[in-house]
Amino acid sequence: MKIICIGRNYADHAKEMKSEVPKEPVFFMKPDSAILQRGKAFFIPDFTNDVHHELEIVVKINRLGKNIEERFAHRYYDEVSLGIDFTARDVQAECKKKGLPWEKAKAFDGSAPVGSWKKKAELGDEESWMLELKKNGETVQKASASDMLFSVDSIISYVSQYVTLKIGDLIFTGTPSGVGPVAIGDQLEGFLNEEKLIQVRIK
Ligand code: MG
Repeated sequence: MKIICIGRNYADHAKEMKSEVPKEPVFFMKPDSAILQRGKAFFIPDFTNDVHHELEIVVKINRLGKNIEERFAHRYYDEVSLGIDFTARDVQAECKKKGLPWEKAKAFDGSAPVGSWKKKAELGDEESWMLELKKNGETVQKASASDMLFSVDSIISYVSQYVTLKIGDLIFTGTPSGVGPVAIGDQLEGFLNEEKLIQVRIK
């Protein structure tokens, strides 16, 4: 399986990163080795001094698809969760400055914890989904999926023009504003519609 991540999918996050608001989805990938098993702690890697949390809605692809039309995209996933797109912000800044790919900053081991899954059918309309991240009990990121520049269906359609989607692939749909550094001892908790789906301890 592969992990496809959307960048800059909330205008307020693009702004806090001093990035342009994109006219079409920006995507990159993480390998399957980036998955952090549920319940496992996240260890800050040695090569960075500035790992940021990015809470994101994640969907799991349930059928094979290529060149999926947006109106049919909803048939390609039926489970939704939350994930954290851990990002070595200092390494990413260095890559960006040199015009290099971001993999070193984004694709490292354990950089993609994913929470427990909810049936899409039980969650109601995408516009009503609310995501929230608490760090040590304090809310640091909170947004509505309706703030996404590109909906899940439009992302599935767009990405599948370039990359065949397979059963089990995950799509991280981008993070809202409020990203920030994590430190050893921090406790992250992610909520979808006020239900806790993910919890990660930083070591
Ligand atoms: Mg992200």
